[in-house]
Amino acid sequence: MSRLVIVSNRLPVTIQKEKGDLIYYPSAGGLATGLNSLDGSWEKIWIGWPGQEIKEAWEREAVHRDLAKDGLYPVFLTQEQISLYYEGFSNKAIWPHFHYFTQYTTYRDEYWAAYRAVNRAFADAVIPLIREDDLVWVHDYQLMLLPAMIREAFPSLSIGFFLHIPFPSYEVFRILPWRKQILEGVLGADQIGFHTFGYMRHFLSAVYRICGYEHHFGKLTVDNRLVNADVFPMGIDYEKYAHPDPKPQDGNGPLKIRELAEKQKLVISIDRLDYSKGIPQRILAFARFLQDNPQYQGKVTLVMIVVPSRANVSQYQELKEEIDNLVGKINGEYSSFDWAPIHYFYRSLDFPELTTLYQEADIALITPLRDGMNLVAKEYVASKEDSKKGVLILSEMAGASNELMEAIIVNPQDRQDITDALLQALEMEEAEQRRRLQKMQDRIRKNDVRHWAVTFINEQKKLMESQEAKIARHLSKEDKNELARAYRSAKNSLLILDYDGTLMPFKTDPKAVVPDEELLRILEKLGNHNGNKAVIISGRDRDTLQKWLGHLDVDMAAEHGVWIKRNGKWANNTGFSASWKERIRQVLENMVERTPGSFIEEKEYSIAWHYRAIDKALGEKRVREFRDVLLYLTANDDLQVLEGNKVVEVKNAGVSKGKAALNWVGERDWDFILAIGDDNTDEDTFKAMPPGAHTIKVGLDSSAARYNILSVEEVRSFLDSLEPVESEVN
Ligand code: UDP
Repeated sequence: MSRLVIVSNRLPVTIQKEKGDLIYYPSAGGLATGLNSLDGSWEKIWIGWPGQEIKEAWEREAVHRDLAKDGLYPVFLTQEQISLYYEGFSNKAIWPHFHYFTQYTTYRDEYWAAYRAVNRAFADAVIPLIREDDLVWVHDYQLMLLPAMIREAFPSLSIGFFLHIPFPSYEVFRILPWRKQILEGVLGADQIGFHTFGYMRHFLSAVYRICGYEHHFGKLTVDNRLVNADVFPMGIDYEKYAHPDPKPQDGNGPLKIRELAEKQKLVISIDRLDYSKGIPQRILAFARFLQDNPQYQGKVTLVMIVVPSRANVSQYQELKEEIDNLVGKINGEYSSFDWAPIHYFYRSLDFPELTTLYQEADIALITPLRDGMNLVAKEYVASKEDSKKGVLILSEMAGASNELMEAIIVNPQDRQDITDALLQALEMEEAEQRRRLQKMQDRIRKNDVRHWAVTFINEQKKLMESQEAKIARHLSKEDKNELARAYRSAKNSLLILDYDGTLMPFKTDPKAVVPDEELLRILEKLGNHNGNKAVIISGRDRDTLQKWLGHLDVDMAAEHGVWIKRNGKWANNTGFSASWKERIRQVLENMVERTPGSFIEEKEYSIAWHYRAIDKALGEKRVREFRDVLLYLTANDDLQVLEGNKVVEVKNAGVSKGKAALNWVGERDWDFILAIGDDNTDEDTFKAMPPGAHTIKVGLDSSAARYNILSVEEVRSFLDSLEPVESEVN
């Protein structure tokens, strides 16, 4: 049976010490519901903090034993760790920052140190429990460093990560001093999930700009692993709210709610106390509504539930005070002897009260300034399954607004917008209410929390399969031995090697790619001898190649084959002209002026514009512009434009690495041919190879080559192994 290992800050139980006894209370949060609903083909274990400081060793053991029966494994944290890692870094740095409240972001090194230490403590708890074929799923912003920590111990384990809060725009994210470590931590996962496309987009943009990994449709390669960022909007336990069980009883709370609803139009507002929820703004908008629509005074009541949260954080205390004052002010201003505009509760509701409120409310006014998803909005809609009466007013800043587009969508900072929405909602025909609710219900009934969990896991499984398919093309140890044997037994071998990205790693500064000693040693070993031939085929210019590698006994092709060096002599391959270059250079110089950080590389028969160090999108825009001008300028010349990795190059038509390679391929009847390359231009080489040649692509991208190899280091060690040292031969 497959095993799912769930890791989250909190276990789905809370431990209370009552009269010296440990009492375990299950907490049925959305996550637990979704995961519990997975079918029996999954064995599950769950690792997390049990919500209580347990100090004594014997007590810890007892908790361990009790929880292990249910597949739960506690991570014990001290009060100090909780205050620095959870209340500190998680809730005073990441939470405000990711919700765009940068004025509340607390930059304290001891918070960060504790965050790292506790993520490490989680890793230490998780790692001994892991089996190689487990699927691990790490949750949320408290554990963003954990995926990479687990990855270190298990390089090929399947790891997923889901972020339950927004991911902010790069411009906001970049402000965090620990931005790179956080991204690298998350990138330890294979699959990274977000509630909305917006969050995913921000994440990918931050990853590109901060870590340099480019993505293609959400997929990126990190340390030769395929990583997938994707959107998985979290749903609710639909039935729980559509048909509450037990049915809301006539307990005191539900009864009073129903009595109130008979007399008044009810507008509900339900959130945890949090600055991200926009509660003061909502109260002010409601006050404006009453002022602008006096006909509704005495007829509409706002029932506002504020669930206490993070009460020891100063910003939350200030917010509470602000809300208290505003409610007092508005009630003082508008109340009559038989009506108060706002019924304000600073407490949580029990389930019957909550579901009665949902069912009875004419309007749900949910206007967070930022919210990862907002489940209350979905629960309200589900509660209208039978009545089909009610209107949802929802902030466009809540993740849920992407799925609940039939709500009246408002900008939570726009008081007039909310005022208008309240009027529209109060006056909406029942048929229209039904139509809108029906559409939203159809969507969230299907995309419930079970669907969310199953989809995430299935997509992760698929990702691992495509990972494996790629690995199947990877040049294995056996393949390497086989090739080495063939090479050694051949009388004459031809090795065709690309330079940048194959023998030397890609760098932002192309001048920094001077061959190092190791490379020179390997090439020297493989150089032309005993009927063998090593050829470097590069886009680089002749002078550079000569300067760097000219002393070695290898052949070379420079400028993709315009220049050929054979048996120690350079020759111009064909009678190309370079008279066109001057015109093109002027255009490129203009591009460099307009695009600081880009530069021109001029060779004898070609000219290239590089944009490695600037934003890729800007570089691509310039290339598009350049292509139009180029078309006009080169109308009468036989030129080609080659787009490579952050470079565009203009050269004479008919020049390619493939054509260059044929100079050597046709030279002899080779027993063994090997070609290795990493980018687009090397595909021409692979395609030009005769049957029986061995072709290897560096990186995991698809290619005409037979095999993939993962890195420059792997290329080097493979080449090094072809020519064993004397002692190995004997
Ligand atoms: N909720 C609750 N008791 C209450 C009010 C709300 O348990 O008195 C629940 C509500 O049903 C919802 C959750 O708290 O499932 C709030 O989730 P949401 O995504 O709306 O906001 P969050 O608090 O996670 O930011």
